[in-house]
Amino acid sequence: MASKNQNKAPPSPSNSKYSVDEVSVDKRRRIGNPKMPPNTVTRTQTRQAFSVVNGGQDLPPTSGPPSNCGSDCGVVGFTKEDVEALLNERLRIKNKFNYKEKSEQMAEYIKRLKQCIKWFQQLQENYITELEKQKKSLMKAKEDELNSIIVELRKNLEALQEKFSKEEFDKLEALDSLSRERDSRQAVERLQASLSEELKRTQQDNASANQKMQSLNDMYKRLHEYNASLQQYNSRLQSEIHTTNDALKRVEKEKAAVVENLSELRGHNTSLQEQLTLSRALHDEAIKQKEALGSEVACLRGELQKVREDRDCQLLQVQALSAEIVKYKECTGKSIAELDSLTTKTNELESTCLSQSEQIRRLQEQLAFAEKRLQLSNMSALETRSEFEEQKALIHDLKNRLADADLKIVEGEKLRKKLHNTILELKGNIRVFCRVRPLLSDDGVGTDTKVVSFPTAMEVLGRGIDLTQNGQKHSFTYDKVFMPDDSQEDVFVEISQLVQSALDGYKVCIFAYGQTGSGKTYTMMGKPGPPDQKGLIPRSLEQVFETRQILEAQGWKYEMQVSMLEIYNETIRDLLAPNRSSFDVTRLENSGKQYAIKHDANGNTHVSDLTIVDVRSSKEVSYLLERAAQSRSVGKTQMNEQSSRSHFVFTLRIMGVNESTDQQVQGVLNLIDLAGSERLSKSGSTGDRLKETQAINKSLSSLSDVIFALAKKEEHVPFRNSKLTYLLQPCLGGDSKTLMFVNVSPDPSSVGESLCSLRFAARVNACEIGIPRRQTNLRTSDSRLSIG
Ligand code: ADP
Ligand code: MG
Repeated sequence: MASKNQNKAPPSPSNSKYSVDEVSVDKRRRIGNPKMPPNTVTRTQTRQAFSVVNGGQDLPPTSGPPSNCGSDCGVVGFTKEDVEALLNERLRIKNKFNYKEKSEQMAEYIKRLKQCIKWFQQLQENYITELEKQKKSLMKAKEDELNSIIVELRKNLEALQEKFSKEEFDKLEALDSLSRERDSRQAVERLQASLSEELKRTQQDNASANQKMQSLNDMYKRLHEYNASLQQYNSRLQSEIHTTNDALKRVEKEKAAVVENLSELRGHNTSLQEQLTLSRALHDEAIKQKEALGSEVACLRGELQKVREDRDCQLLQVQALSAEIVKYKECTGKSIAELDSLTTKTNELESTCLSQSEQIRRLQEQLAFAEKRLQLSNMSALETRSEFEEQKALIHDLKNRLADADLKIVEGEKLRKKLHNTILELKGNIRVFCRVRPLLSDDGVGTDTKVVSFPTAMEVLGRGIDLTQNGQKHSFTYDKVFMPDDSQEDVFVEISQLVQSALDGYKVCIFAYGQTGSGKTYTMMGKPGPPDQKGLIPRSLEQVFETRQILEAQGWKYEMQVSMLEIYNETIRDLLAPNRSSFDVTRLENSGKQYAIKHDANGNTHVSDLTIVDVRSSKEVSYLLERAAQSRSVGKTQMNEQSSRSHFVFTLRIMGVNESTDQQVQGVLNLIDLAGSERLSKSGSTGDRLKETQAINKSLSSLSDVIFALAKKEEHVPFRNSKLTYLLQPCLGGDSKTLMFVNVSPDPSSVGESLCSLRFAARVNACEIGIPRRQTNLRTSDSRLSIG
């Protein structure tokens, strides 16, 4: 068999196909020969032999299922090389004709082939199941993937739907604003139309006024001309009168001369009668000449305008006449006077002529002057008109700018409110100020120990206070500490912003806390008398009314209402109730009035039966304050210093409307003078006093409970635990602003109470310094009370 193998060329990897064919041919041959000896090679041996056949090459491991099922399951594991070796196997027969051996080998070979086939089938089956499994897992993965894609798509769809609805809402809003804009545009167009109509009318008026002016000018010209002609006519008439008078005089003179001549001639002797007759004739002639001259004069009268031209000619005539007269003089010697008179007459005429031409010149000058003036006045009228137009344009422009400025003011005001609120929020919505009153004459007599001092370190300057008790120093810091010599004005400056907030529509509470005699009433109300002693309440009201006036110029209209009440032993007393002067305790406790406190949905508080007064000026409020003070002081005398045993609540409600911007604000300013905070032991109370003190303690501790609950943002805030906190519920918390004054007396005997007050105030103050205020306040105004 080895020799047979040697005869054959060893199978190479390149011609494996060939060798397989060879094997199959060979196999067929061997199968067809049952005498072939069976292959006795064991499986391990075969493996070794196969490795040799394959040149020791290691094939990659098959990815098929494990083939070591074992002979017990009838399947033996095969590798690729095993199969190839099996197929390439040759019968190893020494004797060609030993058929028995051959057939044994063949049987063995067939058995192994069968095993191989079985293994192959098993492999195939495994492959199929594996394939199925893989397919399933692939499907599963694909399905998962698709599911996740679907979920994502659903999410996308939801987001898109949300977006869509938002956009639809935006669109609706835009449509709304568009319609509003359209309305306003229409209104503007209507306004424009009416304005253009007015303009047209004005232009027409202007044109008619121009026409009227033109016609007036014409009339003026015509009148001027008429005046000139009248003047001419007048002067002509006057000159005529002159000449006529002259002529008359001359004629009279001539007549007289002639009569004289005649008488003279009569007196002459008769011999001269011939001469006389002659002279008479001459005289007649002279008369004739005179008449001719008279007619000439008349002619001159008619031609007065041409006198200047005619003058030479007349002079010539006069000369001729003079010559004639000389001739006649020679004859008679008696017509000289006549001639003279004629000459004078001519001279006179000449002078008249001259004066008249002078007059004409003057009149012409006047006319020219008047014309010039007319021109000037025309020009100035034109100028005035253009100036008028310019002024109109300027006014229009200014009006526009005014409207713009108004708009800007309104916007600026909005911004100011926002910024103002932000500033206050940054400062903290609950703030604590401490005020130490000066030492009074009846304080701490005999002791000169100073219990209150103010640290001068930079970081606590104006904010720190040290209290020494039994040699132990306690230090406190607040938002602000007012020293004994700080004036009422200094204090007010610090709270004026809160008052402004009330005008801007916020709810503001300002408390004065401290033991009796520490200066609460002085801080809130001040001292009657000099204006610099006025307290926060009157000063706030002055500011409110002053600012109201300024805001009214921007279109704001405010209504103010004042109420004042007192809470004594958990009972409300109306300090503005009519007929309160006859005060008595039983009426107070049992007046039949309920004074029930109710809050509506808008955060407004109503106290039934409480007197609410509309006020329009700070004077009115001063009057009401006086009334309330009187009402309290009546109680004070009859009820043992009751004023310091009750809480005084002054409330100013501010309702503002701006019709031009459609804005509305509702602010409340509460100014509260709390009852004295001294503890029970100090007042040494029994009976009614004990009840009083307990009521005070209860309400003050309720106030602190409310503040601390708000600061801790607790779900339940115990507003209802006292009348005071329930009354002020809407003004404590939410968007409201609270300020507490802690009043301290520097009297050494009060040091215990002062320490208590300062400790309480420090706890309140801690409400907003627990965590960085700035961050909290910037996020949301409600979180301003957060405590660390
Ligand atoms: P309270 O109302 O806390 O009982 P008051 O306001 O009645 O205290 O003050 C007690 C006294 O001290 C009053 O006579 C008041 O005029 C005076 N007083 C309080 N604070 C000051 C101050 N800052 N400057 C001057 N006098 C003051
Ligand atoms: Mg008081």
